[in-house]
Amino acid sequence: MDYFIDSHCHMHDEEFFAPHVRDELVQRALDRNVKKMILIGTDDEDSYDARDFALNYNKENSLFWSYGIHPSEWEKDRNEPDFKIDMPIAIGEVGLDYHFLDEVDDAEVEIEEQKKLFEEMINLAEKYDLPLIFHVREAFDDFFEIIDKHPTVRGVVHSFTDSKKTLKKVLERGFYVGVNGLATYSTLPTPPLDRILLETDAPFLAPAPHRGEQNDSSYIPDIANWLAGKLSISVEDVMKQTTMNCYDLFRFDKKA
Ligand SMILES: [Zn+2]
Repeated sequence: MDYFIDSHCHMHDEEFFAPHVRDELVQRALDRNVKKMILIGTDDEDSYDARDFALNYNKENSLFWSYGIHPSEWEKDRNEPDFKIDMPIAIGEVGLDYHFLDEVDDAEVEIEEQKKLFEEMINLAEKYDLPLIFHVREAFDDFFEIIDKHPTVRGVVHSFTDSKKTLKKVLERGFYVGVNGLATYSTLPTPPLDRILLETDAPFLAPAPHRGEQNDSSYIPDIANWLAGKLSISVEDVMKQTTMNCYDLFRFDKKA
């Protein structure tokens, strides 16, 4: 496992990456030894965009895609997804996000609809035996209440930004934790290495010293460097273990 994986990015998103630019950026990531990238869907259409980019580019079997409807997209139309062309590697990003609750018309409706959508997405993961990529913000009580009804699902809590206490619960539940550029300039609790997946969340959350700039998958080694310093271990050890963790969760071999 002598390469990195970006377990969460939106490199397919043409709103941020023009087609010729994203090809170059994926190449730059490959050149920096980031050999696999998972393109994360945030709604129906966006998920299929991720799929199409993954299938069309597909150099060195490097791009994978996930199907998911982000909690803040609950109002959009949705259909039973169609995986005939290609199976996604995971269901995500899905979950609960209560960050903007005070800005919505009816918080109660918002919460109920987000929960409903989340349940649907979990059912999908169970139906196709796929791991889940969770997006959870300021909503961990409800998250655990729902997830406790599904004891066999596996997944990663992406871009974890909550307390030490919540991290402990996430780890006890057996989930992986996504560490990205946010960690490089904040005081978030650090999960144990054998539970970390590296991610960029590109185009967002560029790591220090690129904070505020547009992010892309080639920044994964920078996050790994930071983590190696934090844990006082080598970058190689960070790479090997986090890539192994990714294989354990996403089972790339099964897909190939
Ligand atoms: Zn994301």
